[in-house]
Amino acid sequence: MSRSTDLIHHPYQPPAEFEAPQVGVFKASTVIFPNVAAMRTREWLDKSAYTYGLHGTPTTFTLEERLATLEGGTHCILTPSGLAAIAHVDFALLQSGDEVLIPDNAYGPNKALAEGELARFGITHALYNPMDAQDLAARITERTRLVWLEAAGSVTMEFPDLPALVRVCCERGVLCALDNTWGAGLAFNAFDLEPGQGSAPLGVDLTIHALTKYPSGGGDVLMGSIVTRSDDLARTLKLSHMRLGTGVGANDAEAVLRALPSLPLRYQAQDQAARRLAAWCALQAPFTQVLHPAWTDAPGHAHWKNLCVTAEVPQGLAAGIFSVVMDERFSSAQVDGFCDALKLFKIGYSWGGPMSLVMPYNLRSSRAMPTPHLKPGRVVRFCIGLEDVDDLQNDIAQALQHLK
Ligand SMILES: *Cc1c(COP(=O)(O)O)cnc(C)c1O
Repeated sequence: MSRSTDLIHHPYQPPAEFEAPQVGVFKASTVIFPNVAAMRTREWLDKSAYTYGLHGTPTTFTLEERLATLEGGTHCILTPSGLAAIAHVDFALLQSGDEVLIPDNAYGPNKALAEGELARFGITHALYNPMDAQDLAARITERTRLVWLEAAGSVTMEFPDLPALVRVCCERGVLCALDNTWGAGLAFNAFDLEPGQGSAPLGVDLTIHALTKYPSGGGDVLMGSIVTRSDDLARTLKLSHMRLGTGVGANDAEAVLRALPSLPLRYQAQDQAARRLAAWCALQAPFTQVLHPAWTDAPGHAHWKNLCVTAEVPQGLAAGIFSVVMDERFSSAQVDGFCDALKLFKIGYSWGGPMSLVMPYNLRSSRAMPTPHLKPGRVVRFCIGLEDVDDLQNDIAQALQHLK
């Protein structure tokens, strides 16, 4: 054999027994079968074997299993981003003539996807008020196939009565999918919201999670997941996933696997830091309202308490993220100036990483329904990283001076 062939078909095989705290980075498009019979019979759907990189490797199977456990489900599918997970659910479960319902305070691109892409395939969407289960019930028609849920809502952090919304979906026989990025599988169990009528607890049909946020923890990975307890849904979603070809890279999967063990510690630390800062912000005159579901006067606080406060965690759990409403006397330019004056808080999208972030929002362009529970004024969202809390507080204090 020539050297070039030997380099590819080398006889050396490393010993099989290897165990380390982390699963290896298995990178493959091609998976090699020992013979044709194996190629014909191997099954990737149930994770009993490997067939092609896109269908799973030891790295991605391991990550999927851990994420399913994290969120209280039994099946998990990885997608190249959180938004891709939302898109995948829509494309796998909806067809022409169907309608999907989306909460008015949903993650913006979820609505944009419905307006821009689903509409072209004859799938319509409607918005509902997530703080009113009766509003949801009234909007469900015989064309409604899927209801999206989000807790807490994007930017304005309203916490819906999730059990009530899920009950409406169950009663009407409509699938419900929760964007579980905020709760990260830690703040509450989406598949076990309360004891059910029969043996099964009341829960959502599936969750999506932007692993980009807390599970990655580094602000350097884009990935998403879909988790369900339903064997039927998992099969539909997996087959569609295979046909659409949206897999994830092994290095990114490994990065999330590496960060996963510290997820509960980081989530709690960022939660505590956010609450300390939110409490301080509530005392600063330029901020007329603090939007954080653990706040007693925040919209949906009782619902948050009902779901996220338990005997084991009496202080409850929440993501390390909150918004403030700026006094309406401040112009858009002044609010932008305040954000620009922050030094530790960087201006950028996403959250869950080590660096604190800030972003001003104009709700008038992103909410279709009235928001009487919000004070007038511009909204600024803070995503708390892992910096020292006093340093972050001093940073906001110095930036507030620029408003004067
Ligand atoms: C970030 C985010 C997404 C999308 O995740 P990407 O990985 O950035 O596509 C979806 N939902 C929520 C609530 C998010 O915060």
